[in-house]
Amino acid sequence: METRILWGKELAQATIQKVAQEVENSRNQGKRPPGLAVILVGKDPASQIYVSHKEQACKRAGIRSMGFRLPPSTSMDEMLNLIKDLNRKEEVDGILVQLPLPPHLDASPIIEAIDPIKDVDGFHPINMGKLALGDEGMVPCTPKGVMALLDHYGIEVEGQEVVVVGASNIVGKPLALLLVNRMATVTVCHIKTRDLASHTQKAQIIFTATGVTHLIKKEMVPRGAIIFDIGISRVRDKILGDADFEGLQGWAQAITPVPGGVGPMTVAMLMVNTLEAYKKRVGLER
Ligand code: NAD
Repeated sequence: METRILWGKELAQATIQKVAQEVENSRNQGKRPPGLAVILVGKDPASQIYVSHKEQACKRAGIRSMGFRLPPSTSMDEMLNLIKDLNRKEEVDGILVQLPLPPHLDASPIIEAIDPIKDVDGFHPINMGKLALGDEGMVPCTPKGVMALLDHYGIEVEGQEVVVVGASNIVGKPLALLLVNRMATVTVCHIKTRDLASHTQKAQIIFTATGVTHLIKKEMVPRGAIIFDIGISRVRDKILGDADFEGLQGWAQAITPVPGGVGPMTVAMLMVNTLEAYKKRVGLER
């Protein structure tokens, strides 16, 4: 069996291009550009790279990006005041707080301070609650990107046995909800799952988001399975995924590569969410 590689790069580029076109149309009607405020606290190297990718994507999409690079000593009050200020700003449609935050800053009250309409990461309890109820307004970018890839490659999940490995609030849980909303039969596994392979062996589609390098190996999945690898780990300057990409060749039906699969879709979906927030705020929503 030849394993199909499910690339995300081209789809991400095309998605950003589409956003750029919509922004241009709106500008031609005399509207202001969409605005995205990105808050980065501290100097975490991976976070700096992610933020710069987001800023580059904004440039391509015609979205005005406003970067707030704050020192690691930033206090809770300073964060909450900045968010209050950004909530009030007319030209700011989206507010993103790059995670993880330094240990002294509790992410929950900070995310809860963001106006849900500007919550382009989709992490606010109101947006998460809506997602749980099947109202997919502001959906977290990585799971949304995975769903866009499923659609692009015509992979149907309705009625399928699927396994999500990883149960974080930003990837695993919202992804599981999106899959339930599409009527898949979903099993969620995590660090306390006793026998991971016993679950993955029964799945037609496996979504993995743990950050554990090569956790998912050939002997753990049935022949012909489809694997969406969301994990990212850095091993000696190489970026690797949760799945043993080489070992699964010729065994899996299809697999997303790391890098170049789900990763670029996350940034593209951030542009889509910012455009959606903008359209609601400037009254372009039909
Ligand atoms: P997290 O650390 O918050 O959560 C990891 C999850 O994996 C937890 O639920 C944990 O229980 C589970 N887990 C850990 N080890 C496990 C094991 N051995 N077996 C089963 N489950 C296990 O991480 P996160 O923020 O959800 O991110 C997960 C991965 O996805 C990371 O590698 C991260 O870098 C990557 N990520 C990628 C993108 C992207 O755009 N591609 C976006 C966000 C996160």
